[in-house]
Amino acid sequence: MTRRLFWEDMYAKEFDAKVVSVSGARVVLDQTAFNPRGGGLVSDVGTLDGKRVLEVVKEGEEIIHVLEAQDAVAAGKQVHGVLDWERRYRIMKMHTAAHILSSIVNTETGALITGNQISPDESRVDFDLESFDRSKMSYYIDRVNEAVARALEVKTFFMKREEALANPGFVKLANAMPPSLEMLRIVEIGDVDTQADGGVHVKNTIEIGKVVGLKTENKGKNNRRLYFTVV
Ligand SMILES: [Zn+2]
Repeated sequence: MTRRLFWEDMYAKEFDAKVVSVSGARVVLDQTAFNPRGGGLVSDVGTLDGKRVLEVVKEGEEIIHVLEAQDAVAAGKQVHGVLDWERRYRIMKMHTAAHILSSIVNTETGALITGNQISPDESRVDFDLESFDRSKMSYYIDRVNEAVARALEVKTFFMKREEALANPGFVKLANAMPPSLEMLRIVEIGDVDTQADGGVHVKNTIEIGKVVGLKTENKGKNNRRLYFTVV
């Protein structure tokens, strides 16, 4: 299992690690600060010993770094990883904003979140809703910005699976959870949102700045998609 440095310190921009295995362009390290693709988040990119890391993916409990070059590092050797921090920090802001948005829409309408895509430039959340127009979008985005401006602390901790599942609010995207996990990681955003989540977030909502609603789209009968960004 790859040690997840991004859970211990979500602000780690560089790290040292030992190469466990190399298979062509695919590199496994003993530990990494690169957050892999998953839970709707795009993966981090950056470099390992100056060699470009194009994508990072999860396979079971292992994290695979996909490099641009084949056999660019050697198994057993120490390497230095550097994240594209500007991109990663925007992903963190977008992700925390998406949780706040989801929670506010859920509280106001009872709608469940049916999907999300968190990217550095533009993100989106899908809701199981019948109607959702521009004026409603503006209303929800205003509520999100009110929460952001309250400078809420974002805490992460681990909880036994049964305990977390006993609280319905904790698992809003239950199918995103690997069923084998004994302990679930919980992310708590002040009094706004608490849920099981493996992704990276900011420590305080004030770091998000301002959330801007971009557009809404109808994706099927009861599926409304809201696009937003942070500035
Ligand atoms: Zn999340």
